[in-house]
Amino acid sequence: MPIKISRIVNGLQPSATLAMSAKAKDLKAVGKTVYDLSVGEPDFKTPIHICAAATAAMQAGHTHYTIASGLPELKKAIVESYKKLYGIEYAPSQVVIANGAKHALHNSLTATLDPGDEVLIPAPYWVSYAELVKLTGAVPIIVQTEESNDFKITPEQLAAVITPQTRMFLLCSPSNPTGSLYSPEELEALAKIIVKNDLIVLSDEIYDQLFYSGSKFASFPTLLPNLQERVILINGVSKTYAMTGWRVGWSISPLKVAKKIGELQSQETSNPCSISQYAAIEALTGDQTCVAEMRAEFEKRRNYVQYRLSEIPDITFPQMGGAFYAFFNIKSYLGRKYNGVKIDTSEQWCLELLTQKNVATVMGSSFGAEGYIRASFAANNTILENAFDRIRDFLTQSTS
Ligand code: PMP
Ligand code: GLU
Repeated sequence: MPIKISRIVNGLQPSATLAMSAKAKDLKAVGKTVYDLSVGEPDFKTPIHICAAATAAMQAGHTHYTIASGLPELKKAIVESYKKLYGIEYAPSQVVIANGAKHALHNSLTATLDPGDEVLIPAPYWVSYAELVKLTGAVPIIVQTEESNDFKITPEQLAAVITPQTRMFLLCSPSNPTGSLYSPEELEALAKIIVKNDLIVLSDEIYDQLFYSGSKFASFPTLLPNLQERVILINGVSKTYAMTGWRVGWSISPLKVAKKIGELQSQETSNPCSISQYAAIEALTGDQTCVAEMRAEFEKRRNYVQYRLSEIPDITFPQMGGAFYAFFNIKSYLGRKYNGVKIDTSEQWCLELLTQKNVATVMGSSFGAEGYIRASFAANNTILENAFDRIRDFLTQSTS
């Protein structure tokens, strides 16, 4: 009998960001020069003192299982970092270390949702949110936001979609894919609706250290008293410390929830890599100059990308307050011919841009926003310059 695929996995979309990144990698493997703005991962090397801590951990024999929910020293480093950065008090036992923030998200959703529960996800959203919610049997409710409001959900929009089945609101600020950042006041207004309707919030703060001049980041649980009881925080070392390959992320949640997430992980994957956990301790407790340096470099690139996009006629984009993505509107360039090929969708546009100009981006449709393109600026200046020359030529040389 052929092996049957489960209904739930059959309905799952593969990650479009990783699929575009794989396409770019395939082209590079056959010798093509590709200007890759697809995947969102810092192009910097993991700072040397963090790598040295991993080597030291191996040499000291820290190459065995740790507690399934993660090393106590790492949990302590995480809560101390939250206290220092945002003044929030957590106990180390509220932290569960996972194999990356994506895994922490999956575990948190699995531990808190039942089939039929509704989860509110503002669109444009990161590709994995809706799929991870669906894996639990819960129902993602996509709430469209407006480019004119920098793709931020308003309190009115949030209040209007709450039903008796609504259980969770999923927030990502600074945002992947839009790069926009909610102000503390905007978040507080949302928090009031959350409390009034007795909802929980999953706040993905993986880009918390990447916000730029003129913007201010606020960690969601700090906005109102007692909000910690209804918030699950997600974060990790991937973006802040250029450690995507090490696979360390975490959730911080009320103790009862954290205990269950830890138990789930003990049956599912056991601990994340012991060596990576030691490296993460060094990342959080060691010299933080690397964070400021990488942020400053991202800010320069953000300014450059903003300038390049603003030079192209009829291209619009929201304010780029944080993370490392430009999310631009190509609607007035759809329905046109590109070197003889008619392009009607953001997906076709991305694939043709890759074929004709060797530039990899990700289509807005996979983030719930047809007519937009996401370009990661976590790439060096040569790549950015070449990529945006080509994007400009691709768009401006199209014909009606
Ligand atoms: N959340 C968001 C918004 C992201 O962009 C990413 C990027 N991969 C993740 C979570 C997951 O990060 P990781 O699993 O690498 O820690
Ligand atoms: N979060 C990154 C992105 O959006 C990495 C890829 C992924 O995990 O989907 O490109």
